[in-house]
Amino acid sequence: MLSVIIPSYNEEGNIEKTASVVGKLLQDNKIDYELVFINDGSKDRTWELISKLAKTDGHIVGVNFSRNFGKESAIFAGLEVAKGDCAVLLDCDLQFPPEVMIEMYRIWENNDVDVVEGRKNSRGKENPVYKVFSLWFYKLISGSGGLDMQSASDFKLLDRAVIDSLNRMPERLTFFRAMSSWVGYKTEKVYFDVADREIGQSKWSVKALIKFAVNNITSFTSAPLQIVTACGVITFIISIILGINTLYNKFWGGADAGFSTVIILQLLTSSIIMFSLGVIGYYISKIYEEIKQRPRYIIRDIVTKSKEQGENKKENG
Ligand code: UDP
Ligand code: MG
Repeated sequence: MLSVIIPSYNEEGNIEKTASVVGKLLQDNKIDYELVFINDGSKDRTWELISKLAKTDGHIVGVNFSRNFGKESAIFAGLEVAKGDCAVLLDCDLQFPPEVMIEMYRIWENNDVDVVEGRKNSRGKENPVYKVFSLWFYKLISGSGGLDMQSASDFKLLDRAVIDSLNRMPERLTFFRAMSSWVGYKTEKVYFDVADREIGQSKWSVKALIKFAVNNITSFTSAPLQIVTACGVITFIISIILGINTLYNKFWGGADAGFSTVIILQLLTSSIIMFSLGVIGYYISKIYEEIKQRPRYIIRDIVTKSKEQGENKKENG
């Protein structure tokens, strides 16, 4: 059985369409499936629509979060709830073409592979500034983690073994895209074009994107800490050169000049120190968040057709 995990946040316009399009496609292809909709604390009618579908259609499972925990948490809740032999992640806005999902399933079915990874041919309609930043972001993450993250996406089909491995990873601050590469396994690639969103709007604001990038860089690489060390080494070398120069001036030249050098050096070193403390502080705050061991998400209710009484079953993930 194939589990399709669909994180949904304020997607009232998409739920029914996505459920029927994906359901029909899988039935036409004679694939046994379940659709796991995760309502990530939507403020509109999303949960109402999901629970209505889940109560009438045995293929649909509705999971309701107690509040908005973010797409990452929704993905991991989906992996936890999914019962399939493999699972695929799909966006509720169908920006990941569902036909490619069938292609992925066939590859998984007919070959000895554990992960079928969707890679973006084009990134769809996107602001050029975002393109440059996302390129840098993935370069940084790929470089230090030793993973090839360029043009990676959340659109992936995972075998049960991979799902179980991911479910066993204990960290609170998750980054699905990188973690699912990190676990390894035999991976096959499929290329697809990102479709345009038809209904509703993207949940990503500039602020959210910056937060996402900083969060994931710090939880996936220690490169910024190495930058701190590099700054230290560079300023140390500069200070040796200037130190020799200063001593030479003191004993063999005029030592009065150089007031501006002192001020510039003062400004430079203090800003580097503060910048470094900021980076280190950020990592400490991440460590603090991890050791609190809070659940990644809180499920308020799960609704399925067979056990409607499952509603209001409270669960922590
Ligand atoms: N999403 C979510 N929680 C959030 C934000 C987004 O579950 O806090 C879901 C959203 O409903 C959609 C998917 O994540 O199914 C991708 O979101 P979106 O289309 O806004 O992102 P984009 O395609 O612009 O990257
Ligand atoms: Mg989208």
